[in-house]
Amino acid sequence: MKLTAKQRKSWRRYIAALRRQYPACYPVTVRTVRTPKNICGDTGHANRRIVIRISNRLTYVERVDCLVHEWAHALDRYWQRPEEHWHDEQWGMWYSKCYCCISKASDELKREREQR
Ligand SMILES: [Zn+2]
Repeated sequence: MKLTAKQRKSWRRYIAALRRQYPACYPVTVRTVRTPKNICGDTGHANRRIVIRISNRLTYVERVDCLVHEWAHALDRYWQRPEEHWHDEQWGMWYSKCYCCISKASDELKREREQR
């Protein structure tokens, strides 16, 4: 799905907010790509870099949700943890922090748009 200009601006702002407030141990690149049908997104880690891939089939809201989910995996260093713990309470704690970060960035954007 194609995003509107307004959605693209918010998307960039959310990624910048996460980078600023919750940097991972390695630089994180976020890519919107074509993925297999059953995959919304994933996080990969190699050569001291983290790459988050988000499916371009998702709606804007789904993409934001997926970004929060995957950023939490990056912060939780999923590659150092057994797969059965990838979505445990520790990951959930990161997820909630990322969610609040994006929620705040969204409120800021709303205020800016109202001022214009
Ligand atoms: Zn996951």
